[in-house]
Amino acid sequence: MKFAVIGNPIAHSLSPEIHLAFAAQVGLEITYDRILSAPSDFHSTAQDFFTAHGIGLNVTAPFKQDAFKFATENDSASKAAGAVNTIHATDGVYLGYNTDGIGLVADLTRLGWPLQQAKILVIGAGGAAQGIVLPLLNQGAELFLANRTRARAEALKEQFPKIEVLGLEQLSRGWDIVINATAAGWQQQQLPVPSETFEDARCYDLVYQRDSRTPFIQQIESYAGDTSDGLGMLVEQAAEAFRIWHDVKPQTNSVLNALRNPKRQFISGAECPRCGNQDTIYVERDLLGTATLRACHACNYSEDMEGNVSVELQK
Ligand code: NAP
Repeated sequence: MKFAVIGNPIAHSLSPEIHLAFAAQVGLEITYDRILSAPSDFHSTAQDFFTAHGIGLNVTAPFKQDAFKFATENDSASKAAGAVNTIHATDGVYLGYNTDGIGLVADLTRLGWPLQQAKILVIGAGGAAQGIVLPLLNQGAELFLANRTRARAEALKEQFPKIEVLGLEQLSRGWDIVINATAAGWQQQQLPVPSETFEDARCYDLVYQRDSRTPFIQQIESYAGDTSDGLGMLVEQAAEAFRIWHDVKPQTNSVLNALRNPKRQFISGAECPRCGNQDTIYVERDLLGTATLRACHACNYSEDMEGNVSVELQK
């Protein structure tokens, strides 16, 4: 059974690791590849995958809107988002789903952050924000939206009249939950938002990284009440895609824990080329056992498996 994730870039996608771990959990044999598509080639690349007996495709940036057009039928969540992140080829049709909102709500629930009547500020009005508005409203949250380009937030309000639009610079304290749905961190930019906005609020970043210290979390952690990056959302949206394809819901906690704490295997006798210590070099492995990183426990030396070193080698 053939599955894949398509995007651009795609090399660092964790989806193969996650789906293969789910498959192992429930005893299914699947293949799950990464497909890099040129920006203008989504339709033909996706078509080629399904012609070659592909069953399910996950879709990531920048193709979620293209996938919405590609699908023959779309579920209500993808219609509300105008975007598809999961395609299921079945009986000659392509069914389009959006599992991002379900993934976010599942992760907020795992964190124990109440949503019913919660006052939630979403910063950002791009594709990701559009996908989470309806699921949060459906949980009974009171939703406010602020975006750098205000017109984009106003356009979302036309679609979802219950939300209230605010200006980024006028934001102030008083939120139960603040969700960063912008791509500012990717560009190493701070959000132009007054720091009191985050005071005592639970702050969630849709962006994720294994150590959870995303640029947004670093910006707000000294003010925020509690913080989380979006790795749990990634795992939960994958679990929902897995359920759609295989009709079985996998367990997510063990997979999330394993992603957060990759296995380390120390190499006996190896000397660190940076600090010179012996027995401190280890290899880190992903969920599938593939070595991804060589690093030193005693200093900040690390290199990827192609030998690209992340720090200068002087002592
Ligand atoms: P998008 O459609 O390109 O929208 C980008 C958003 O970021 C817009 O609201 C944009 O504001 C805002 N923005 C960009 N740079 C900014 C800056 N320097 N300051 C303030 N606002 C800025 O992208 P998207 O698809 O919504 O994705 C947003 C983020 O969510 C991405 O980082 C993505 O990786 C993440 N995501 C995570 C998951 C998960 O499973 N954890 C799922 C989906 C998405 P303007 O409108 O003014 O340009």
